[in-house]
Amino acid sequence: MERSDFGKMGYGCKHYRRRCMIRAPCCNEIFGCRHCHNEVTNMLNSPSDRHDLVRFDVKQVVCLVCDAEQPVARVCTNCGVNMGEYFCEICKFYDDDSDKGQFHCDDCGICRVGGRENFFHCKKCGSCYSLSLRDNHSCVENSMRNHCPICYEYLFDSLKDTNVMKCGHTIHHECFHEMIKFQKFSCPICSKSAMDMTLIWKRLDEEIEATAMPEDYRHKKVWILCNDCNDTTEVFFHIMGQKCHHCNSYNTRTIAPPVLPQE
Ligand SMILES: [Zn+2]
Ligand SMILES: [Zn+2]
Ligand SMILES: [Zn+2]
Ligand SMILES: [Zn+2]
Ligand SMILES: [Zn+2]
Ligand SMILES: [Zn+2]
Ligand SMILES: [Zn+2]
Ligand SMILES: [Zn+2]
Repeated sequence: MERSDFGKMGYGCKHYRRRCMIRAPCCNEIFGCRHCHNEVTNMLNSPSDRHDLVRFDVKQVVCLVCDAEQPVARVCTNCGVNMGEYFCEICKFYDDDSDKGQFHCDDCGICRVGGRENFFHCKKCGSCYSLSLRDNHSCVENSMRNHCPICYEYLFDSLKDTNVMKCGHTIHHECFHEMIKFQKFSCPICSKSAMDMTLIWKRLDEEIEATAMPEDYRHKKVWILCNDCNDTTEVFFHIMGQKCHHCNSYNTRTIAPPVLPQE
């Protein structure tokens, strides 16, 4: 075995491959990693005992090769093993699977995965976004410092992939797809269309064209408020949907007719 592979086999926890455990600064116990800690402490019976480990506060680690407890560092001071191929001194984070492309973003203040070259930090949204979103998304102040509108997990340091919807609000990738699966195409936060709907609206145009309303309803008109452009207009009622004539969206809701001021 190569010297650099020393101790690399079969260590770590179910979250990370590495050669150390951490001493939790909050409860002074040893855990595989902070997720191992959080899984245990968030199962505690008494809600007041439940807590998350603050990664930056970790001071001590235990080498898994020689069991020596010591201050956080990449290399074990006792046996000399490299405790993690990737090591972040700020996050006290070790991981051998460097294929994940870990990098520390100074603006986020935490380590992220996916390769530094594939991301930029959007200061307004408050997080690292994929390069494909550069100059290509609606910025929402601190969008990522929020909870996923579907599952309510905090998004900023979530381990799951996140999508930026057309409106700029953010949601887990898998929660977004769950939402689409249930034919819900609007943002749960602001009700604007969550993605480009051009094709879907076109199909709806055709279906409505082909489905005449019964004579009794054919001349019925309703007032609508468009969720996408906020325009209020009066349009013909149709069972399949009301189209905003300002932006062509069917993401509208019927409202009571506006009360016009007296002359
Ligand atoms: Zn773990
Ligand atoms: Zn050691
Ligand atoms: Zn870091
Ligand atoms: Zn960042
Ligand atoms: Zn942004
Ligand atoms: Zn979610
Ligand atoms: Zn939104
Ligand atoms: Zn509209």
